[in-house]
Amino acid sequence: MVAYADFHRRSIEDRDAFWSEQAKLVEWETQPQQICDYSNPPFAKWFVGGKTNLCHNAVDRHLKDRADQAALIFVSTETNQEHTYSFRDLHAEVQRMAAILKDLGVTKGDRVLIYMPMIAEAAFAMLACARLGAIHSVVFGGFASHSLATRIEDASPKVIISADAGSRGGKGVPYKPLLDEAIKLSAHKPANVIMVDRKLAAFTPVAGRDVDYATERAKHMDTVVPCEWVESTHPSYTLYTSGTTGKPKGVQRDTGGYTVALASSIPHIYQGKPGGTFFCTSDIGWVVGHSYIIYGPLIGGMATIMYEGLPIRPDGGIWWSLVEKYKVNVMFSAPTAIRVLKKQDPALLTKYDLSSLQALFLAGEPLDEPTAKWISEGLNGKAIIDNYWQTETGWPILTICNGVEKAPSKFGSPGKAVYGYNVKLVDDQTGEELTGANQKGVLTIEGPLPPGNLQTIWGDDKRFVSTYWNTVPNKLVYSTFDWAVRDEDGYFFILGRTDDVINVAGHRLGTREIEESISSHPNIAEVAVVGVADQLKGQVAMAFAIAKDTSGLTDDAARKVLEAEVMKVVDSQLGAVARPSRVIFVTSLPKTRSGKLLRRAIQAVCEKRDPGDLTTIDDPTALQQIKDQIV
Ligand code: AMP
Repeated sequence: MVAYADFHRRSIEDRDAFWSEQAKLVEWETQPQQICDYSNPPFAKWFVGGKTNLCHNAVDRHLKDRADQAALIFVSTETNQEHTYSFRDLHAEVQRMAAILKDLGVTKGDRVLIYMPMIAEAAFAMLACARLGAIHSVVFGGFASHSLATRIEDASPKVIISADAGSRGGKGVPYKPLLDEAIKLSAHKPANVIMVDRKLAAFTPVAGRDVDYATERAKHMDTVVPCEWVESTHPSYTLYTSGTTGKPKGVQRDTGGYTVALASSIPHIYQGKPGGTFFCTSDIGWVVGHSYIIYGPLIGGMATIMYEGLPIRPDGGIWWSLVEKYKVNVMFSAPTAIRVLKKQDPALLTKYDLSSLQALFLAGEPLDEPTAKWISEGLNGKAIIDNYWQTETGWPILTICNGVEKAPSKFGSPGKAVYGYNVKLVDDQTGEELTGANQKGVLTIEGPLPPGNLQTIWGDDKRFVSTYWNTVPNKLVYSTFDWAVRDEDGYFFILGRTDDVINVAGHRLGTREIEESISSHPNIAEVAVVGVADQLKGQVAMAFAIAKDTSGLTDDAARKVLEAEVMKVVDSQLGAVARPSRVIFVTSLPKTRSGKLLRRAIQAVCEKRDPGDLTTIDDPTALQQIKDQIV
């Protein structure tokens, strides 16, 4: 085994040699001519001159060695369906979907928006786009029409692929009305919508626009659609994420760099092997779903489980029963899900044979010590490995790379810098690098960002530079917007965001987006949304609003009515994921004399902490009002 410190050092100091070795894990139609072109910082181009295809590496390349091996295992406890697709089956299904897209005129570089529940057809859709060199943009099924409309407008897709409905807790959740409304709201109109009809919610197709997936698929049972070889730098997808403004950012990923990063992460981080089984419980709407439900495991020749349903239905043992049944080796989830399981009978953890499981990886939000300990003990000491990363990076920034060299985990720390990442802690005021132990700084990454990271923000290079690269004084470094410290052993500890982004159950939400949505209610004059610590979800959004007309808000019942209305607005515009846990009515909000909302002070009060220096506060009674209302 190589010492991890050397492995990491080589990835930075002998970057091109290191990554040219990793590039051998991928099949290329044309070998790259240059490993990294960083002549125009901060824009990095990886594997320049190389031509490859993401779908080829995820599916076609495995046909020679493992055509009959399981590739995609679809399990729905919502509709009680379970189906295993071998690599051969997956290859056929992806070609059928690709043929339908081709019929609709989709070619290389066209955008295809995917708004689907966790069903196998969503995987076919993503892989079919990659096959054609079309750029997919998956929008999380929990988002509602307004969120969806902004993404349709930004991505300007030629085609949208959707379904009649998702399902949650056994109840159908119609998608089609939200999609139709979003298309109405968007200035850009897709030419066609492919509808997968699960028969969960009746709908009327729009004539001339909507096509039925089953009917079209039947026409293409044996159609051959070869992979389109694309330049390594060709965008494979965009994925929208929240920031500090109301407008979501389309994180744009390349093809070659992403394929190499994922191919390399499977053995080095996840210790996955071809023929093994990977079970990631995220959703295709999030980056973790892109990288470790769809592309990563398949590129690594592993079977991947795609699970539609709740972790506690039919009971809290469902995931472990799948581990036993499908001999899962690598499991990947989020701390929130484990906190949900913690409320279930602990005997469910030992009821199934989990001998195949090597490790459980957790990501998306801080992993608190009690949760880590509970699950580690419950799983009889199996390795619990924290991963810290972002939508922007596409794969972990910090973790323990046990596939390179085994190292102990420390509770509360996601670990050390992953190879390829030149992580630096810097002083937010001076930009000075902080090299001492336990000094708090902003976690930054020196360019070039490693393969697999975002190339830019879709259609907005300027925003890419100004958002991520120009925030640290005197330095061109990528900011993660997270505070962190590093201990004497090089382990990092994440201390929270430097901006107004909050993290609810592992889902990243911009408080600005929620504020904008709440403000669209006719009786809301002003609102502040903050993230407040929550035992189950990590954080929840809490809103403090000033009503325009307070004459009706005379008692709690009246306030509850308005609160429910406001929540409904957020539900219908952004989706239930963004719904604040409470909307509290106040008559003024704490601001500085220059009018800047003191969100951090509000948050501190809500969490019963000291709000800090309030010398700049305009109206101290505003904070007192909030204090009085928090019980
Ligand atoms: P997203 O892009 O939605 O994955 O959100 C990324 C943000 O989630 C990061 O900037 C962190 O604030 C937080 N995050 C993700 N993973 C972790 C982790 N393992 N520990 C602590 N915070 C995390």
